[in-house]
Amino acid sequence: MNVDLHCHSNVSDGALAPAEVARRAAAAGVALWALTDHDELGGLDEAREAACAAGMGFVEGVEISVTWRGSTVHVVGLRVDPSDEALLAGLAQVRGGRLERARAMDRELRQAGVEGAFEGALARADNPGMVGRTHFARFLAERGFVADAREAFRKYLVPGKPGYVRHRWAALADAVRWIRSAGGQAVLAHPGRYGFSAGAMDGLLEEFRGVGGEAIEVVTASHSPEQARHFGALACAYGLAASRGSDFHGPDEGAEFGSLPPLEPGLRPVWRDWGL
Ligand code: AMP
Ligand code: MN
Ligand code: MN
Ligand code: MN
Repeated sequence: MNVDLHCHSNVSDGALAPAEVARRAAAAGVALWALTDHDELGGLDEAREAACAAGMGFVEGVEISVTWRGSTVHVVGLRVDPSDEALLAGLAQVRGGRLERARAMDRELRQAGVEGAFEGALARADNPGMVGRTHFARFLAERGFVADAREAFRKYLVPGKPGYVRHRWAALADAVRWIRSAGGQAVLAHPGRYGFSAGAMDGLLEEFRGVGGEAIEVVTASHSPEQARHFGALACAYGLAASRGSDFHGPDEGAEFGSLPPLEPGLRPVWRDWGL
């Protein structure tokens, strides 16, 4: 089955509306699909309706920003109840500092010679409270400060670069607890992107499992085949299930629907016990 359990709409930092994302996934042959906007559930109703109209299975999702040992990691929640009060309150708290961070990024970028970044990013954020680095990247690229969004991250928006501002997101245990309290399953997103040493990754997986995490994203657009094998082996070693998701953000922004390799047999898919 073509399963894609990770992607974004313009409710967070995706380029398309939830219904457009749903139709694009369905057109690419996705049979079971989750919308997982960053720290937001606001797109789920529209996404569910469009998925249903397209005859595609739908899963309520979210991707929570977490600070773990000073680094940012992402935890996807799948099959969450979008009306759960603890989850809604937790996400509102995580989102809370984004505008203030964007102003701080603007000050840093101004010192680096980039004017108007706050306004530029905000103008590109359909949901102002969710303004983030992707919106700054689109501004920097469209205004010609860099060739494309990738370069915007590399030159301005990652740790050590002039536009990067440290931020404290949710605690790992809190994010997993909110997901579980809303009836969902917690999946460690794109572990290959964190650049952690083997020891740090072991520490993260140990703690993630200890607080109730259930799966690792093994197949995702940012993993090489080698990384998919590596994280598949880690999922087995830790007794965690495996997930698969493109992390689609928009047309021509890297990840695309329908182009992921399958999960290796032998892994336990996170959707195995969903009664599909
Ligand atoms: P934020 O939550 O505002 O810090 O933004 C994080 C988002 O930026 C991620 O969800 C990705 O969509 C995007 N992102 C992070 N790092 C990169 C990168 N190196 N290249 C492209 N996009 C990135
Ligand atoms: Mn994103
Ligand atoms: Mn992510
Ligand atoms: Mn994502």
